[in-house]
Amino acid sequence: MAEMFYDDDANLAVIQDRSVAIIGYGSQGHAHALNLRDSGVDVRVGLAEGSKSRAKAEAEGLRVLTPAQATAESDVIMILVPDQVQRHVYANEIAPNLKAGDAIFFAHGFNIRYGYITAPEGVDVCMVAPKGPGHIVRREYADGRGVPVLVCVEQDASGEAWELAKSYAKAIGGLRAGGIKTTFTEETETDLFGEQVVLCGGMSHLVQAGFETLTEAGYQPEMAYFECLHELKMIVDLMIEGGISKQRWSISDTAEYGDYVSGPRIIDDHVKQNMKTVLSDIQTGKFAERFIADQDAGAPEFKKLRESEAGHPIEATGKELRKMFSWLKSSDDDYVEGSAAR
Ligand code: NAD
Ligand code: MG
Repeated sequence: MAEMFYDDDANLAVIQDRSVAIIGYGSQGHAHALNLRDSGVDVRVGLAEGSKSRAKAEAEGLRVLTPAQATAESDVIMILVPDQVQRHVYANEIAPNLKAGDAIFFAHGFNIRYGYITAPEGVDVCMVAPKGPGHIVRREYADGRGVPVLVCVEQDASGEAWELAKSYAKAIGGLRAGGIKTTFTEETETDLFGEQVVLCGGMSHLVQAGFETLTEAGYQPEMAYFECLHELKMIVDLMIEGGISKQRWSISDTAEYGDYVSGPRIIDDHVKQNMKTVLSDIQTGKFAERFIADQDAGAPEFKKLRESEAGHPIEATGKELRKMFSWLKSSDDDYVEGSAAR
């Protein structure tokens, strides 16, 4: 069984005695900075001079410095810029300002696992990775709850790195829900696998293929949207509450029988073989190399894919249909409809 941490297993005073720099103010950055501040932690934000995020952080009353300045005056540095940018910000702004006794923190192990960042001796390397988007991390904290977190230590130079990591996890509200002890390697490989195979890649393309199959057979796109996308929410909520069993308990016998006989015809051995190939590309670093090479070239492949996927017919159908859903109100006022870009 994985080792779990809760609020009683961590001491808030450990992080309250440190100076924390949050580098980046996006999805995770804003949530960590605000939750730490509200937990009584001394926090500042590090952002480039021209960053659009500066005004948002300042509007919350947070002090904003450059990443270099924020690192220099802090002893805990949480790196929350996009994964593909981290090694540049680290090399140019963070590394020159690190001192022995400092700790660098991550919310995902990508750069440490694949060797894009190597921390000097004498510096703790920790991870507190919320298992949810930053906007939920902030919303749950404000409501007195928390999003579960993964907690790991890659380098324990001080001998106190675990106490520090658990204290940070508590301060962002993560230990109200629970923390799971893991490693940078396990977090990185399972996180990439989950998002590529099931949560993002698998789910998006399963939904699209179902929508295409129905519309190509002449059914109305609105019906295809409802059956292949909209109802997912209720099915997933049941799974989260009580596993696949509770979902099957709730659906009709017709649906349950169809699950048993048709599910394995869709997710067959061939699909599982593909999953193993994707896992292997994650483990060998092949996926990481492809992602970083494209990013370093200005992301031509990424941008092309983002544009063509946004043009899938299910998006146009959904956009019109959702206007009629009086029960659906977005609570994220900074989300621009139809755009994956932040
Ligand atoms: P993000 O894309 O929301 O934005 C990061 C912020 O970094 C931006 O808002 C900006 O302030 C800054 N930034 C962007 N480009 C920059 C550049 N070129 N130079 C300097 N600063 C720049 O990032 P995110 O999704 O919050 O991801 C941050 C980390 O958290 C990543 O390691 C990611 O894997 C991890 N993570 C994210 C989520 C999530 O739900 N988004 C969940 C768990 C872990
Ligand atoms: Mg993830």
